[in-house]
Amino acid sequence: MRIVMFGCPGAGKGTQAKVIAAKSGAKHISTGDMLREAVANKTEIGLKANEYMSKGALVPDEVVVGIVKEKLVNDKITDFILDGFPRTIPQAEALDVMLAELNLPVEKVVNLNIDHQVIVNRLCERRVCLACGESYHLKNNPPKVEGKCNACGADLVHRSDDQPEAIKTRLDQYDQKTAPLLDFYKKQGKVIDIDASGAIDDIRDNIMKALGL
Ligand code: AMP
Repeated sequence: MRIVMFGCPGAGKGTQAKVIAAKSGAKHISTGDMLREAVANKTEIGLKANEYMSKGALVPDEVVVGIVKEKLVNDKITDFILDGFPRTIPQAEALDVMLAELNLPVEKVVNLNIDHQVIVNRLCERRVCLACGESYHLKNNPPKVEGKCNACGADLVHRSDDQPEAIKTRLDQYDQKTAPLLDFYKKQGKVIDIDASGAIDDIRDNIMKALGL
């Protein structure tokens, strides 16, 4: 199973990718999680990426393409769910080239459709665990213990790029640079459209049905 999760920031790509990964055994690969880990570890890539991420801007293509390629090759991954990558046409083209070399083309692109208005509320109320990547919504999906991750017990944080100004930048970046990718994948006949505005479990069921899982 080789899938790309597609949709604007806060559409639920990470939440749904984790569920598909658990059900299918495919590896969940989140470039956002990998970059945040690099930032936390203050690696060279992390220090560079943080300049962009804290403002809600996209990290340069060559940096992101490099970390994805390294992950796929080093860990010998053959089944994957890409979450947050690709985000630009050059990234998608680079992905197609690297996957052609590995003989592992993308099979399906799950497009999570949701209104930008709903997203602003979702991200303002989102709290995430930087230790394991789990995410919560203060009203719709709160943690059992306030401020603590259900899965690993670590502290939950309000990401700096989930603040109103950065959310606006991220949605603008999505409209300008990422949304055009949908046509790129539609031409390849790979897009599955999913309404991502309802309850998490209903969205999950619709994705599973569409993927035949
Ligand atoms: P995410 O957790 O997917 O929302 O990603 C958080 C931030 O990491 C984004 O706002 C970007 O700054 C950066 N990022 C993650 N994935 C990519 C990508 N494919 N291309 C460029 N920047 C990315």
